[in-house]
Amino acid sequence: MFHLKLENHFAELGPDFYTAMLAERVGVPHLLHANPKAAPLVGLEPAAFSDPDFAAVFSGHKPLDGFSPLAMAYSGHQFGAWAGQLGDGRALLIGQTRNGAGELWDIQLKGAGKTPYSRFGDGRAVMRSTIREYLAGEAMAALGIPTSRSLCIIATDELVQRETAEPGAILARLARSHIRFGHFEHFHYAGKHGHVRQLADYVIGEYFPDFAGDHAGWFGEVVRRTAHLIAHWQSVGFAHGVMNTDNMSILGLTLDYGPFGFMDAYAPGLICNHTDEAGRYAFDMQPAIAHWNLRALAAALNSLIPTEALISQLDTYESHFRKQYRMLMRAKCGLANEMPGDDELIGQLLTLMAKAGADYTSVFRALGESDAVFATLFAGHEVDAMAWAARYRARLPQLAGLCAVNPRYVLRNWVAEAAIRAVEDQNDTSVLDRVLHLVQAPYDSHADDAAFAAPPAPEYRELSVSCSS
Ligand code: AMP
Ligand code: MG
Repeated sequence: MFHLKLENHFAELGPDFYTAMLAERVGVPHLLHANPKAAPLVGLEPAAFSDPDFAAVFSGHKPLDGFSPLAMAYSGHQFGAWAGQLGDGRALLIGQTRNGAGELWDIQLKGAGKTPYSRFGDGRAVMRSTIREYLAGEAMAALGIPTSRSLCIIATDELVQRETAEPGAILARLARSHIRFGHFEHFHYAGKHGHVRQLADYVIGEYFPDFAGDHAGWFGEVVRRTAHLIAHWQSVGFAHGVMNTDNMSILGLTLDYGPFGFMDAYAPGLICNHTDEAGRYAFDMQPAIAHWNLRALAAALNSLIPTEALISQLDTYESHFRKQYRMLMRAKCGLANEMPGDDELIGQLLTLMAKAGADYTSVFRALGESDAVFATLFAGHEVDAMAWAARYRARLPQLAGLCAVNPRYVLRNWVAEAAIRAVEDQNDTSVLDRVLHLVQAPYDSHADDAAFAAPPAPEYRELSVSCSS
């Protein structure tokens, strides 16, 4: 059998931090798809995918050396309200492994069955959302955005009841850590301040070694990483959809892809989660919501870090965000050296895009490719688009390198849906395979699959995504 040596540093924190348990038997697990690019993160050779035990291991049914699966305990604020205990209701951490670069990675199975934290849930994940998360993690990583990664999808051959009955699946996902803001809130609101300190010291020791003994400095670094993460999201047009504190990574990773979306037509107020009627997690709310979530984290760290230090670190959020967002947007426009009028130029472009409902990804890609294509993206506003392009060309006659910053492919909902439909309706993984390949090299042109760079056709435009995944 393939070799993967598991370590259990999180488990060493003690029983209040999790429930140790074996995975429930979920259907008849078999490997649907595996991702060779993620295998080396946990020191696996892609040859392991054809090992007869692979599906049994990554559905949690066959132990590896050091195997000690557990469901993590955490709490959180959901849609702005304290939700109390949540925890891994359908995920199992089967262990951690240290790769050749010395990095510790969690291996977590999502959809591997019920846990003591399942509450009213069934512990299952459906194929549809599993494929979406599998592709999204890889798409984000290829865009240089911190994220969980995707190792494989295990099909379970059982039906899972959501709005309709859907095929089930398990996602084996990888992250340096799955610890969330909500882990700290969990112990703070239980009055277990020693556990807050223990968890912080574990996180600092393993992932923030430069901040050893400096809790306030560490919190400042979490603020900075979170601000940079959100700036990245805004720059590629990504809306997470459920920014509850239990979905916020303490490492500043994108975690828990549910009703997320990459924008097609630029619409700053886009709500991609149709259960979020008030639009709390609308695209343009994300920067402020992340700040809100950091305040919730700060409250949970108050036994560890003096209030004044927490406040002064929180106050750095906005400037970190603005600086990073501005830098990323300038890079997308090829404006490396600053000139007066640049901010106005970028602002005018975004205003025009919003007015015309221009496709976010295509517009920035066209900046480095062709003015003629650029103008056609602004239906009904072509004249204004040409006028903007003329001002832009006057500012920046040279366009070299823009296609290396502006992706041709993002994981559009309709593209994910095409991969899902082929798997669900025809048991065909070839579209999934192609889409994974595209999003893992999003700046390349992939001429044979250029159709996947296009905005959605009308039949796909009304796709909506909910939390019921
Ligand atoms: P989410 O909004 O998907 O991040 O989930 C919020 C909470 O609900 C977490 O504690 C999840 O583990 C739990 N949860 C979501 N879906 C299920 C499910 N199908 N079965 C059990 N728990 C679930
Ligand atoms: Mg979650």
